[in-house]
Amino acid sequence: MKVMTQAEAGERAAALRALLERYNHEYYVLDTPSVSDAEYDALFRELVQIEERFPKLLSPDSPTQRVGATPSPAFKPYVHAVPMLSLGNAFGEEELRAWQQRTAKLLGEECAYVAELKIDGLAISLRYEDGLLASGGTRGDGSIGEEVTPNLRTVRSIPLRLRGAAPALLEVRGEIYMRRSDFDGMNERRIAAGDAAFANPRNASAGAVRQLDPRATAARPLRFFAYGIGACEPGIEAKTQWELLRALEAFGLPVNREARRFDDFAQLIDFCESWGSKRDQLDFGIDGVVVKVDSLAQQRRLGFVGRDPRWAIAFKYPPEEAQTQLQAIEVNVGRTGSLNPYAVLAPVNVGGVTVTTATLHNEDFIRAKDIRAGDAVIVRRAGEVIPELVRPVLELRKGKRLPQYRLPQRCPACGSEVYRAEGETMSYCTNASCPAQRKERLRHFASRGAMDIEGLGDRFCEALVDSGLVSDVGDVYSLKTSDILSLPRTAEKSAANLLGAVEASKNRPFWRVLYSLGMRFVGAQNAQLLATAFPSIDDLRKASVADLQSTEQIGPKIAQSIVHFFEQPQNVTVVEKLRSAGVRMMETPSAKAHSKKGPLSGKTFVLTGTLPALSREEASALIAAAGGKISGSVSKKTDYVVAGESAGSKLAKAEQLNVKVLNEAELRALLAAPAGGP
Ligand code: NAD
Repeated sequence: MKVMTQAEAGERAAALRALLERYNHEYYVLDTPSVSDAEYDALFRELVQIEERFPKLLSPDSPTQRVGATPSPAFKPYVHAVPMLSLGNAFGEEELRAWQQRTAKLLGEECAYVAELKIDGLAISLRYEDGLLASGGTRGDGSIGEEVTPNLRTVRSIPLRLRGAAPALLEVRGEIYMRRSDFDGMNERRIAAGDAAFANPRNASAGAVRQLDPRATAARPLRFFAYGIGACEPGIEAKTQWELLRALEAFGLPVNREARRFDDFAQLIDFCESWGSKRDQLDFGIDGVVVKVDSLAQQRRLGFVGRDPRWAIAFKYPPEEAQTQLQAIEVNVGRTGSLNPYAVLAPVNVGGVTVTTATLHNEDFIRAKDIRAGDAVIVRRAGEVIPELVRPVLELRKGKRLPQYRLPQRCPACGSEVYRAEGETMSYCTNASCPAQRKERLRHFASRGAMDIEGLGDRFCEALVDSGLVSDVGDVYSLKTSDILSLPRTAEKSAANLLGAVEASKNRPFWRVLYSLGMRFVGAQNAQLLATAFPSIDDLRKASVADLQSTEQIGPKIAQSIVHFFEQPQNVTVVEKLRSAGVRMMETPSAKAHSKKGPLSGKTFVLTGTLPALSREEASALIAAAGGKISGSVSKKTDYVVAGESAGSKLAKAEQLNVKVLNEAELRALLAAPAGGP
């Protein structure tokens, strides 16, 4: 925090309080937050820090001292016999350890802990009298919530009668939530009926519980997990949180089965971290893990501070979703001519990485999600690396006139007509010599793993196509020094290097030539299969769809794509140019032997995360060239997982199965090892 005078701190604290009050109202009362939880948490933290530095500024009405928000007057007040509190937050391992040390010091003795998934829903309290559900309410401001009994009665996982010998009075605390799958289904039905989709399961659940008509609540797929109690008369047997969870279960209440009890805090930290990478696998949202001191006697001794118990803390995961502005929807033309729409975003930090663009897949995806330029949008880092646009925040569109998206009818690079075949999701530019496609094809041709032409990077590819020196990849082999020197910012030396690299590329094995031609669906692995089955370009060219399909792992889609490729005269011209330049057009016995006995032969690799220098395609091609196999998922049969930045669940799985993990440098070392090495 920057150095501040008391006056400056006072001003900032007042501004933060006003802002947080507004966000609390939007979140708790209106169920339509206008900022992400991460943004809210950051402002909240800033206020806590100011109040810690300048205790005089602390007032009892500060949002840091109060739970939730004032309940809405639309509902009858619901008085909690025992207040419902909030939880302090720990962001990261260090803060969690600091909490544990403080707790242990205050207790002056060893203690055990229970870790429970922090379900991202709405906190409620249920009042059971003689085992029967008498009433239920929201948390509200912690003392008084909103009475929503008829609504809660519609939630099937809330028992109307407890099992066994229930106490005369029992307040059950827990979370109302929605499964992701139910949420998606519900949203699809809403969109089909012309209603607005909900922003996320948490808001949809909170909105559903706080309906004035219980029939509206009943129509939403709500569920419940119990995790604690308030008033209880007479008391129940449980001496620990762990026993309490079991007692709740025995009463017939749903309790999440992933909770664990720990004597060893290091193991508890592992538990928290491992759920961080596994949480996508759950069918409901969690935003962290709640860590509680197990012994109820110790909990009582620790008591509360402000609005938070001292005996529990929420370990929160760094946000992997963030909200930002969709500035524009643009289209890039791929090497096959596909029009690939993508989002241009106001830069936003998602899980520690700044995101400025996100894929939008195709026109149908944009329509289905009703994404429009100008929308506030939620962005997520999905599939470990590629940022994804999750949804527009429809509540924030109100009042804005944003047109529905339509994919351009003409190619944005060359103006030619765009074609979308029936049953296909992608649209294509119909002009085979479209400059955007040519550049992409050239880039692919020269990339590592393909023809590996050092020095033929993005800048040169652009310049060569724009100047007309290269119209297809075959032209690369007729380039002269004077051609290269005619391009801006080129010198004798770079021209000589480039021509040297072009010459060297003529020796690449046949399968790499096939791969570099950029046929649809022919990646490095398929190129190897094809080169083995059809050892020359002429064999491949003559092959029918049926011939091709008789090759193991080559299905109808790939087979048709290959036949279609050779039916295009311009592709045949390229092949002939390459052949006359001396590029390898057939499998040589030595290449065959080499590919079978490369340094990585017999080894299976899985790639995850972003490597510092190699793209995923390049790394796969290099591994394949050295005889290794690439697999999509980690199993006991995997020999190596190559992990880069933002590696996700595959890395966790590798660690779990004790599979060796390599970084890029280690992979390169393996690639350089003599055959039979590793
Ligand atoms: P909290 O959500 O951080 O923690 C307390 C809550 O955790 C409990 O009330 C309970 O509902 C829930 N919980 C889930 N599983 C639990 C378990 N096993 N044991 C105990 N509790 C469990 O704190 P809060 O005061 O409820 O809410 C504050 C948070 O809400 C903020 O950190 C922010 O993320 C979000 N918020 C967002 C906005 C916004 O505008 N986006 C506004 C207000 C609050």
